[in-house]
Parts: sequence; structure tokens; C-alpha cells
Amino acid sequence: MSGTHFRRVALIGLGLIGSSIAWATRRAGAADEIVGYARSAQTRATARKLGFCHKVVESPAEAVEDADLVIVCVPVGACGAVTAEIAGSLAAGAIVSDVGSVKTSVIAQMAPHLPANVHFVPAHPLAGTEHSGPESGFAELFDSRWCILTPLPDADPHATRRLRSYWEALGARTDEMTAEHHDLVLAVTSHVPHAIAYTMVGVADDLQRVTDSEVIRYSAAGFRDFTRIAASDPTMWRDVFLNNREAVLDILGRFAEELFVVQRAIRTGDGDYLHDYFTRTRAIRRGII
Ligand code: NAD
Repeated sequence: MSGTHFRRVALIGLGLIGSSIAWATRRAGAADEIVGYARSAQTRATARKLGFCHKVVESPAEAVEDADLVIVCVPVGACGAVTAEIAGSLAAGAIVSDVGSVKTSVIAQMAPHLPANVHFVPAHPLAGTEHSGPESGFAELFDSRWCILTPLPDADPHATRRLRSYWEALGARTDEMTAEHHDLVLAVTSHVPHAIAYTMVGVADDLQRVTDSEVIRYSAAGFRDFTRIAASDPTMWRDVFLNNREAVLDILGRFAEELFVVQRAIRTGDGDYLHDYFTRTRAIRRGII
């Protein structure tokens, strides 16, 4: 049997990421059976109607029975409670993973509940949209996107390799790093940009002299592109900020320092500074496809 094939994949949480994993697993033929669980009856009904799982069950414990791969796909703040619910039903030798956007906190929440006879390999696919829920998933979500694995120091290398090749079968490119480094990298590339986008929408809404309808009508001038990610799920993002507090505050502090320098250059009319700064940052941005 190839390293990418699992007998039974259990997905706990069937929102954007859980449903996309199911669709991508089917496309890849990477599992004989996909079993899903979602907390809300409505999500379970939608999942059954859409048919991305072979079976949608009524409890997380039932979903993980006999599964050789279990992926927890719930908001970061719920990972510990969900793991406590499944811990007693996990099959010996199963790989247990997650997709959380923050790694140190998820590891701290999940690891204490897991029995010694399973392999815990945390992971984070850097793929998403501003949509959420089971209807928003699609098989191509992970194509050519990175999936970062953050195995613990005592992780079984065979389990890590199996999970890597599974994500590659789903279309992703994979990499490994420590959970701490992941959280710092993601604070820069994802978490702080989301905080700033949400804040910019708040600023526009709070202005007395510019109406909401003007903001909407003239948003193509930058606001629309810049704030697209502020349409993302509030529960997910609340949990990301509360669980990656240190790295986010570090990067937000640096952002505030840079912003003050730019603000001062604008106030003092320092065109040379602004031109040099924008030339340098434009070159960096153009290097990112
Ligand atoms: P989503 O809102 O689309 O789905 C979340 C799922 O978790 C739903 O099935 C919901 O019913 C369930 N859930 C919510 N709270 C729960 C709780 N307390 N207990 C049990 N189940 C609960 O969210 P999503 O975008 O699929 O995100 C899921 C995970 O994936 C999060 O940890 C997020 O950090 C991570 N992630 C998201 C993105 C993205 O861009 N959306 C990208 C990569 C990773």
C-alpha cells in the first residue's frame, strides 16, 4: 500500500477546510472511506446532502473509531475540547493531525489528551478563502499551496512522512518547521494583515465625514482589495489572535513603529524618504507572485 493511502480518514469539523480535505481526498483516491463529524445538525445535514464524506456521524468519538488518520478541522480555540472527546476512541497507531492556523497553542491543547499509542503530527495548510461552512469547500483548494507540518521533537518520522505524502496527494507542497517558528512566520504573512484589514473597515465605518455608501462606491481605489480578507469568519480569527498573542503583538508593534515613521515623513513633507521606502517595499512586493 502506498504511503499516501489511508483506510479510513476521520474529519472532525466540516467547514471550509474539513469539506475541502474530503473533496481533495476523494479526488486523490487517498482513502477507502471518509467519515465526518460536525457539531451542528445543520452542518451535518448539508454535508450529507453534498456527499463529500462517505458517512456523516452524530458524535466525534464515533467518527474516529477504526480511523488510521484523524484530522481535527475546528477553530483553534475548540481543538482541546474536541481532542478530549475523541481521545478514548482513537485506534492504536492512528495518525492524529489538525489544520489550525496557530501551532504552539493547538499542540498545548491537544497533546495532553492523546494516548501514547497514536502519532500526533500537527499541520497547517496555507490555503483558504474568506468563505466558511461546508458549502464553501472544493477539491482544488490545496493545489500548489503550502502545507506546513510542525512535528514534535519526539515524533515518529514515518508518521510525519505519511502525512506529508498525503497532503502532497491532495495537491499541496509541504514543509516542516517548529511550531514557534510557524507562529512567527504566520503572524507576519497572515495574522497581522488580517488584524489591519479588519481595523481599516472599522476606521471607514467610524468616519462621520465619509458615508458608508461612498466607501462602497469608491472602494476599487484600494479599499476593496486591501480589505477582502476582513470578510473572513470572526470565530476563526478571534481564536487565531487569542492563541498567537505573543507573535501577533510583536509584529503589530513593529508595524506601528513603521507606520509612525511613514506618518512623520508625510507630515514633514519628506518626499525622498517616502519615495525610497515605497521603491524598496514595491520591489519586495513585486517579488511575491
Ligand atoms: P469553518 O467555520 O468553515 O468550519 C469550522 C467547523 O468547526 C464547522 O464544522 C463548525 O461546526 C465546527 N466547530 C466550530 N466550533 C466548534 C466547537 N466548539 N466544537 C466542535 N466543532 C466546532 O472554519 P474553517 O475555515 O474550516 O477553519 C477550520 C480550521 O482551519 C481552523 O482551525 C482554522 O484556523 C484553520 N484554517 C482555516 C483557513 C481559512 O482560511 N479558513 C486556512 C487554513 C487553516
